[in-house]
Amino acid sequence: MDATPIPAAQAGAAPALTPMMAQYFEIKAANPGYLLFYRMGDFYELFFEDAEIASAALGIVLTKRGKHLGEDIGMCGVPIHAANDYLNKLIKLGHRVAICEQVEDPAEARKRGSKSVVKRDVVRLITAGTLTEDDHLDARASNFLAALSMVRHGETDFALAWADVSTGETFTVDLAAEQLGDELARIAPAELLMTDATRSTLTERHLFAPAWARITHAAPAESFDSERAGVELRNAFPATAFDPSALSRAARAALGAIVAYVRESQKGTGVVLRAPIPEAANRRMAIDAATRASLELHQTHRGDVRGSLRQSIDLTVTAPGSRLLSARLAAPLADAEAINQRLASVGFLVDDTMLTGRLRTDLKAVPDLARALTRLALERGGPRDLAAIGKAIQAAQALARHFAGFDALPAVLATLAETLGAAPGSLAAELAAALADDLPLLTRDGGFVRKGFDRALDDEQTLASETRAVVAALQARLMDETDVRSLKIRHNGVLGYFVEVPASHGGKLMEEPHRQSFIHRQTLANAMRFTTTELAELEGRMARARDAALEIELRIFDRLRTAVLAQTDALRQLADALAELDVTAALAQLAATRSYCRPDVDTSLAFRIEGGRHPVVEEMVRADGQSFVANDADLSGADGEGGGRLWLVTGPNMGGKSTFLRQNALIAILAQMGSFVPAEAAHIGVIDRVFSRVGASDDIAHGRSTFMVEMVETAAILNRATRRSLVVLDEIGRGTATFDGLSIAWAAVEALHETTGCRALFATHFHELTSLAKTLARVSNVTMKVREWEGEVVFLHEVGPGAADRSYGIQVARLAGLPEPVLQRARQVLTTLEQRSSGTMSSDGRASVLDDLPLFAHQPPPRPAEADPVHTALDAVRPDELTPRQAIEALYELKKIRDDARRS
Ligand code: ATP
Repeated sequence: MDATPIPAAQAGAAPALTPMMAQYFEIKAANPGYLLFYRMGDFYELFFEDAEIASAALGIVLTKRGKHLGEDIGMCGVPIHAANDYLNKLIKLGHRVAICEQVEDPAEARKRGSKSVVKRDVVRLITAGTLTEDDHLDARASNFLAALSMVRHGETDFALAWADVSTGETFTVDLAAEQLGDELARIAPAELLMTDATRSTLTERHLFAPAWARITHAAPAESFDSERAGVELRNAFPATAFDPSALSRAARAALGAIVAYVRESQKGTGVVLRAPIPEAANRRMAIDAATRASLELHQTHRGDVRGSLRQSIDLTVTAPGSRLLSARLAAPLADAEAINQRLASVGFLVDDTMLTGRLRTDLKAVPDLARALTRLALERGGPRDLAAIGKAIQAAQALARHFAGFDALPAVLATLAETLGAAPGSLAAELAAALADDLPLLTRDGGFVRKGFDRALDDEQTLASETRAVVAALQARLMDETDVRSLKIRHNGVLGYFVEVPASHGGKLMEEPHRQSFIHRQTLANAMRFTTTELAELEGRMARARDAALEIELRIFDRLRTAVLAQTDALRQLADALAELDVTAALAQLAATRSYCRPDVDTSLAFRIEGGRHPVVEEMVRADGQSFVANDADLSGADGEGGGRLWLVTGPNMGGKSTFLRQNALIAILAQMGSFVPAEAAHIGVIDRVFSRVGASDDIAHGRSTFMVEMVETAAILNRATRRSLVVLDEIGRGTATFDGLSIAWAAVEALHETTGCRALFATHFHELTSLAKTLARVSNVTMKVREWEGEVVFLHEVGPGAADRSYGIQVARLAGLPEPVLQRARQVLTTLEQRSSGTMSSDGRASVLDDLPLFAHQPPPRPAEADPVHTALDAVRPDELTPRQAIEALYELKKIRDDARRS
């Protein structure tokens, strides 16, 4: 969402323009698409349409300030100290903001003449994808800026580059336009750049999702120019770290656009991105957008984090650890060796709970090193960021010591331990020696250097505090000299130091003999304020000492900052290692506390789960005091046999089919991200793609009906699944007429079995499908068991061989509270339909079903009789609990209720 353009009148266009307005228009024109936060004193002011947009978005008053071309100038403002909150709100709504500051001392401006305006310039562009301050960021979530490039040369190539400016992580991937939706669902960028041409192409091909409009910003074509990108990239990344020619033209263009945008937004502080990591799609397990949503990996259908897989398994204790866990869950691996390496590390920590406990305790003290480092590099860091670096190094050293006694660590842990051990300890020592214990947020507040660290600084500070003592002595002396016991020396921001006496004594100081020494400054209702030459002198001395002290502190800050930045590479590696250790220990903790097992992952086509559980539903069921029923699944196949098995899952509504289907997909994802899994045993041959679809979900925002969505998604599976894929289909074909749906489901099962040969779970209420098990060799029927008891259905949630012959829909409807007459009628219709089910269901047949149904169905169902008040009252009587007196009172009460009822 871009801010509106500036009014037609530009600088110079109207002779009546004041110098300030001319300056405003010039700056506004140089930053199109941004709301201009224009610094005036202690406020950021917005004008014209910017003011209208901001006042509506922020709920602040829109006022007027002067006129422009005869029209009122709309204005609104936010105070500097609260600007962050307002900025946050605007950015969340998709706005972009340009921060325009005064860039010279007003005194300088005055030298140019009384009418001259203070020089101002935009010092920073704030957009959703370029945030770096903790105030603006979610500590446990990455914040990506993405750019999509489109390069035409015969064929059209697309590439995506994305970077988290707050940590410097940068990635690229080449992709087909059709894959864009899936990649963006994985990355979930806060901001997406593309040219208008790219957007039009995607829109023409129906590949631009409306949901992207909010985060998409049009970037000029030249910022995607791959030639220009080459230069941009060489400036941004050291040649030793990265060779731009190793990337495709499209990837270079996308990355170039990111670098240009970040550079522009940070206004000259340089680009602090890490060397990009080109991603190869085949090293990851592909999970498309619909599957992510269906499996509720990062958020539930309602958009809540609570109830998602991520939330359920995230036991990390640091924010960077949580971000890494989220990224791993978003992109599980597809390489058995790499998966097993991760699993070995988790396994090692599962086996040594003491070590895991110690690591997790120490990890809790680890600050967000990567984000602190970025802020320092962008000249936006404060003393606390420096301290964070020191603390992280110290924590890393302590963590490394925990590994000291082990000589056979798994490879990943060994590398982590080595990186932690190599943390630049001397830097930490330097920071610890220099920084005080309590640190201000801002460098300019001073007071962050430890006493004793710098002699000159200590001297200035002593001078300042000694002068304060002299001021106290002066107060005592003046008190004596004037004989005013209530005389005080005070300080405020406007007057500085002053002598204050009650108004009743003020006159005395303005007379002889005091008249000479007391200079009147201010008269208030109750007090009068003066200064003296001596006091002014003392104040000057203190101010000079303070300034000198601050100057020394700023120099020390710069020195420390330079020392930190000199270690950027080592610190980034350390940040990675700390996050990875947190994730590994958290997964070990998860496995130990929830009885997860280590999956056996290889390159076979196995998929054998013993005693599998749904990681999220299990926790919910447990919280309700019940136990989750574990279930086996075996979809294992071999190439020679034509592929994996397909289980047709039938059973009652509410029987647990969806839970069973999803738990197997989730187990596969957990295993391949390198986590233990909720099962007693699991053997999984690496899965290249997971597909999970639930029949009935619509996508009105995309203008697609329930059935259309279902078919588009089914088509995607049938076209894209391979023999290595795992397909989970829940009630496909339910969004249309019974026979159409059944036919489609039938054909889909045949295609998955015959053509794709993937491992698959297919839940259905079309019981007719179960006959396919007779003809298709690798199809098996399983059913969710139920027990019927006194007409009620009891769900056992247990998967067993066989096929259900009914769905118990009416029983479930009863549990849900459908009115009894409707249930009765439904039972009649069902019985009639079942009796006729052997015949063909032509429209004539349907008409005769109608004919066979008892006539009273056409009458409105009887309303339930109103409760008789006497009966209701009688129901409430507990004879055993009544005293004789209460019993007789109850009897009278009953008679009264009966009489009242008769009268009404
Ligand atoms: P429908 O056909 O109506 O969609 P379903 O067969 O797919 O139903 P689920 O939604 O999977 O049923 O499960 C219904 C509820 O049963 C779950 O919300 C959960 O509370 C409970 N449940 C499912 N599986 C189990 C299990 N294995 N152990 C314990 N409770 C379970």
